[in-house]
Amino acid sequence: MYLYNSLSHKKELFVPNHEDIVKMYTCGPTVYHFAHIGNLRSYIMEDVLEKSLRYLGYNVKRVMNITDVGHLASDADTGEDKMLKGAKREHKTVMEIAKFYTDAFFEDCRKLNIKTPDVVEPATNCIPEYIQMVQALQDKGYAYFSGGNVYFDTSKLEKYYVFNDHNEEDLEVGVREGVEEDENKRNKNDFVLWFTKSKFEDQALKWDSPWGIGYPGWHIECSGISIKHFGEDMDIHCGGIDNAFPHHTNEIAQSEAYLGHKWCNYWFHVHHLNTSDGKMSKSKGEFLTVSLLEEKGYDPLVYRLFCLQSHYRRNLVFTWENLDNAAVTYEKLIAKIAALEDKGEADREAFAALKQRFETALNGDLNTSLAVTALYDVLKAKTSDATKLAAIRDFDTVLGLNLIEAAEKLRAQQPQEEYGSDPAIDALVAARAEAKKAKNWAEADRIRDELKAQGIEIIDTPQGAKWKRI
Ligand code: AMP
Ligand code: ZN
Repeated sequence: MYLYNSLSHKKELFVPNHEDIVKMYTCGPTVYHFAHIGNLRSYIMEDVLEKSLRYLGYNVKRVMNITDVGHLASDADTGEDKMLKGAKREHKTVMEIAKFYTDAFFEDCRKLNIKTPDVVEPATNCIPEYIQMVQALQDKGYAYFSGGNVYFDTSKLEKYYVFNDHNEEDLEVGVREGVEEDENKRNKNDFVLWFTKSKFEDQALKWDSPWGIGYPGWHIECSGISIKHFGEDMDIHCGGIDNAFPHHTNEIAQSEAYLGHKWCNYWFHVHHLNTSDGKMSKSKGEFLTVSLLEEKGYDPLVYRLFCLQSHYRRNLVFTWENLDNAAVTYEKLIAKIAALEDKGEADREAFAALKQRFETALNGDLNTSLAVTALYDVLKAKTSDATKLAAIRDFDTVLGLNLIEAAEKLRAQQPQEEYGSDPAIDALVAARAEAKKAKNWAEADRIRDELKAQGIEIIDTPQGAKWKRI
């Protein structure tokens, strides 16, 4: 498999360190709010990467952290802890917030067919590991204590900006606007490994340490958790592109200083999902979540298909129109699969040829849009329906679009004649379809509720909206 490696800025042949295992790490969510569908784009594409590796025969061990402490409002070690902010907003404790939004995250993942990693580790579980690492970094001269915090000394490294060929001025932007300089730092890129003083007064979670009572910085979490579960090396580290700097840059700095050798070989970064007016955010504009998609009548897997249709290294623009197009594609695809007849044996040779195309798409830097095209090739192929169904079932172990299940469900749906027919209700159902088309969601919901009150359920079918009495 060829994968683009952010470290070398090239597509490279993927060769794991060990024959029997691929060690794959993913930066998990900061659980102070719901994940937006931008965050989930990253998790969908990482899920496809994991499933592709398994499909290609690798044995994958995947580890993910849950950030429940230490991620400050700015990635540059300033501002309030995001978790505390969430707790204040909702008048709950930090741990209640963490539990609620961790559960919500995995519920979204379930709806999007994102497999739960083999190991999921909340950051607050590994405090002794971080303390031991920070202590070792200080003993080796890579860390210093200043103004009550422990900092990593970036001037001790030969190369700090590992991902970019940019000059330092450009990269300053990555430290986000409006950040006041921390006078305890020796160099402007030094970062906090362990906080005791800064923003300490109302920090909810704190632990004893050799430097006083405090809490870990965000970056040390991912190094500590991955080394705990993988040992001294790993194959692939994943995250959204915004994580490359400073988060992943700092992870590499501290992990390699601690271990004394190269740590992770391949860095897989998913580019952003943007709205038409810019970056997706949890705080401004419409907060796009999986629940919102569902409320508007979309199957979450339509969003998964929407993500698969473009390459992970391209920015992707979300609009309702684009999602509607994906919904139509999904519906048509399912209708075509539902029309296949499930009888007889698959033809091995034909199956192997179809599989070959799919594998080639995955092998070429996870070209998921080509992998989706390979599905259409299956539908068009001159072979038996049984062979086609076998190939679709096989591809879907990676694509995760529930293709077979959705087609079976469609097939099992009552024939058209069994749907209700009544001019007044038909008119309302048609009015709802019009409202949906005009993106007048409030009106569409109002009509659905009005019909529900009359004991009528609307059913979306490939032939349009139908209804029946409940
Ligand atoms: P967070 O919960 O903020 O720690 O982010 C979780 C993951 O989502 C990280 O890997 C981020 O890099 C990624 N991410 C954040 N914003 C976006 C976006 N607009 N599109 C894709 N991934 C994103
Ligand atoms: Zn991380």
